[in-house]
Amino acid sequence: AKDCGRKTFQFYSAEMTARVEKRLTMETELRHALERGELELHYQPQLDIATGRIVGMEALVRWRHPQKGMMPPAEFIPIAEESGLIVPIGEWIMRTACRQAMAWQAQGLPELQLAINLSARQFKPELAGLVKEVLAETGLPARCLELEITESLFIEGTDSETASILAHLKALGVSLAIDDFGTGYSSLSYLKCLPVNKLKIDQSFVQGISSNPEDASLVKAIIAIARSLNLRVIAEGVETEAQLHYLREHGCDYMQGYYYSRALPAGAFVELVKPAGA
Ligand code: C2E
Ligand code: CA
Ligand code: CA
Ligand code: CA
Repeated sequence: AKDCGRKTFQFYSAEMTARVEKRLTMETELRHALERGELELHYQPQLDIATGRIVGMEALVRWRHPQKGMMPPAEFIPIAEESGLIVPIGEWIMRTACRQAMAWQAQGLPELQLAINLSARQFKPELAGLVKEVLAETGLPARCLELEITESLFIEGTDSETASILAHLKALGVSLAIDDFGTGYSSLSYLKCLPVNKLKIDQSFVQGISSNPEDASLVKAIIAIARSLNLRVIAEGVETEAQLHYLREHGCDYMQGYYYSRALPAGAFVELVKPAGA
């Protein structure tokens, strides 16, 4: 038992080396993924609960890895964030999604709102300039673009830089949604002073609606907060009729989830949205 500690150390050390190597490999591969066109966007419909109509879509990135196949963002977005690659990747996502949304409008599809996820790392003073440039370049009206940000941006209070970026985005006419609302442990005071348009109820609460009374209460409370602050509210991760029913009863505006549709490749999304006979 004398060299037990050393063995344990060697074991972890080998494991850590392997992990670091794997990470570095993935970072290099990810760097090339953009140039090689291995990233693609899928689109998940968002519906108006009252009318049942599709009113928008969230762009969700996927990586078609040459060996590993389709990789979900949870496996590479954290590495993209740590390495800073999220900045060029995020820029590609914004351009590609806005161009796609505009192409659909040009094909005569109804005007939909496009939601795009932003990482905190992208939240730099250059952001508003980029958004402006992409809107000008693609012709997408600013009212058709919604940026999803998370509460983590506001955790340590809101510095003047964040507030100023938000104000610039607002001035462009794009809409702002708080993603995963309720999971960020941040104070709610930012809601009254920042130009937020929508709250997105995190799927962990939505999925507990029928099984966990606390989750049901939280969903109800978030809808009430949104209403009282005159914000729109969307529920993500809606999987069942019972969840949808509860959301409708409590006045939630929009829904997104497998109950209606998963995120789809562009071609499949357009089939879903195309008016019958078109
Ligand atoms: P998110 O922004 O909270 O996105 C919602 C996730 O829930 C998506 O997973 C979506 O496919 C999944 N989802 C939608 N409806 C349901 C449902 O009914 N049930 C269940 N179980 N899941 C549902 P996805 O596409 O794997 O994305 C995971 C996360 O990766 C996203 O969470 C977001 O944080 C990040 N992400 C995805 N695309 C992008 C992107 O373009 N940029 C950035 N920065 N992050 C992204
Ligand atoms: Ca999101
Ligand atoms: Ca979310
Ligand atoms: Ca989420």
